[in-house]
Amino acid sequence: MTTTVWLPPSETAFSCLCEPCLEAARRSGALFSDALQAASVRGTVGRDSALGVVRCAAGHEIVLRRGDRPPALQRRDERQLQLT
Ligand SMILES: [Zn+2]
Repeated sequence: MTTTVWLPPSETAFSCLCEPCLEAARRSGALFSDALQAASVRGTVGRDSALGVVRCAAGHEIVLRRGDRPPALQRRDERQLQLT
């Protein structure tokens, strides 16, 4: 399971939740606020890079992509925005 973050063309900063970390924290019974903190990943990416890969504190890959997010992912992204 790889987390994918969609960035608008001019955006250089991102903030997301690492899904494997969130899932692991959930399974371990961690407090929801702790789970969010553990899974939170922030960083920046060059304006000219179309694609980037970063890693969360636990080493999971997070793929950064530019462009419009697929309609199928919109629902999940809205949920993530509410969590952050
Ligand atoms: Zn992770």
